[in-house]
Amino acid sequence: MSKAIVSSLYDSDVFKMACRQFDQAADAINLPDAIRDRTKYPRRCLAVSIPVRRIDGSVTVFEGYRVQHNISTGPSKGGIRFHQDVTLGEVAALAMWMSWKCSLAGLPYGGAKGGVIVNPSKLSESELEHLSRRYMQEMVNFLGPQTDVPAPDVGTNEKIMGWMMDTYSTHVGYLSPAVVTGKPIALGGSQGRREATGAGVAYLTKKYLEDMKLPVNKATAVIQGFGNVGSETAIALSNYGAKIIAISDYTGGIYNPKGINLKKALEYVKYAKVLKDFDGGEPISNEALLELKCTALIPAALERVITDKNAGKLKCRVLAEGANGPTTNAADRILEQREEIELIPDVLCNSGGVIVSYFEWLQNLSSFYWTRDEVLTKLYGMLDKAKDSVDAQKRKFKFNRRLAALTLGIARVAEAKASRGLFP
Ligand code: GLU
Repeated sequence: MSKAIVSSLYDSDVFKMACRQFDQAADAINLPDAIRDRTKYPRRCLAVSIPVRRIDGSVTVFEGYRVQHNISTGPSKGGIRFHQDVTLGEVAALAMWMSWKCSLAGLPYGGAKGGVIVNPSKLSESELEHLSRRYMQEMVNFLGPQTDVPAPDVGTNEKIMGWMMDTYSTHVGYLSPAVVTGKPIALGGSQGRREATGAGVAYLTKKYLEDMKLPVNKATAVIQGFGNVGSETAIALSNYGAKIIAISDYTGGIYNPKGINLKKALEYVKYAKVLKDFDGGEPISNEALLELKCTALIPAALERVITDKNAGKLKCRVLAEGANGPTTNAADRILEQREEIELIPDVLCNSGGVIVSYFEWLQNLSSFYWTRDEVLTKLYGMLDKAKDSVDAQKRKFKFNRRLAALTLGIARVAEAKASRGLFP
C-alpha cells in the first residue's frame, strides 16, 4: 500500500480531527486504498503575503491562504475567513468539510476554503477594503467562476465579497459576478443568501424536532455565536415560535429563561458591535451556555467547542451544528452513547449557505434572477432531500448521523475521482 507523502504542511488539531472523521467514514464504506489518500488530502493550496498600507502611513503584511481540497467534481467552493487565529491547517480542514458538504447536497462543486490571519475589527474600513482587494488580486490566477468560487465565512461579509468581485472583474476586464457568492443584491447577490445558512439550520432543527414529536413552538434554543449564522438562526427559530433563551459571542453570553428580545439584541449589536453589556438577561460564560438545559443547542461560532469535557453534560435534545467542526472526535464518541440527543452534523446542518450560494452562481451565469420565495422553496426542497438521504443511510447501515452524512459525501467524491482516473 502506498503511504501518503503529505508533509506537516497542514498539521494541526483541527486538520487531524477532519482526517480522523474521514478515516472512520472511509473504513465504514471500505474505500479502496487506491482512492483513499487522493480523496482525503487537499489538491492544492496557495499562501500569500498581503501588504496593507495603514491609516498612519505604515505597512502591515498579513498572511492569507486558499486551500482547494477537491476540484474533481466541479469548481471548488467555500468561504474566506478573516480571523486572528486562522492557520493553514484549519483552512485545510474547513476545505475538506466543504467537499463533503457540497457533495452531500448534490452540488456540482468541489470544496475549498480561504483565510487571512487578521482581526478585522481592528482595521479601519479602508484598511479592510485594501486587504480584501489585495487578497483577491493575489489569488486572481488561482480562482474564477469555473475554477474556485469564494463566499463569506467568519469575519467576512457581503461588502467584502463585493470588493473582491470588483477586483476580479477589473482584472479580467468585464463584470464577472459568478466569481464570488454572498455579494450585495445590487452586485448580483441572491435574494435570501444572507439568511440562508441560519434559515437552513432553523429549518432542519424544526424538522428533527417534528420527527421527535417535539413541537417547535414549545422549544427553547441556546445559540453560541451571534454573527451571520447565529443571529439568522435565532430569528428563523423564533419566527417558528421557539423561545431563544441564550445567545453569545466571543465577549460572552446572555441568558434569559423568559426569552431574549431578539430585536433589541440585534439593535444593540448593530451599535455596540458585540453583545457585551447587553442588558436583556443575565451574563453567562460561553462554557456554561453550552451546558444549559434546552430543546435545541446550536453552536454557530468556531470549531472544537463540544469536547470530551462537556459532551457528557449537554442538556439538549437536538444538537444542531451551525458552525463547521464544533464537535471533537472524542466528544462524538460520548454523544454516540447519548441516544436522547439527536445530532445534526455540520455538513448537513449548515449547508443552506452553500446551497443558496449555488443558486446565486446559477443566477449570475444565466443573468436570470429569482424571487426570494423561489430561492427559499428550492432551498428547503434540497435540504429535505439531503436530510432524507442521510437518515436513510443511517438506518440502512446503523451508522450515527455524522457517519451517515460523511459516508455519503465522501463516497460521491471518491466515485467521481475513480471514474475520472489518474493521469498517467
Ligand atoms: N462559508 C460557508 C460555509 O462554510 C459558505 C460557503 C459558500 O457559500 O461557498 O459553508
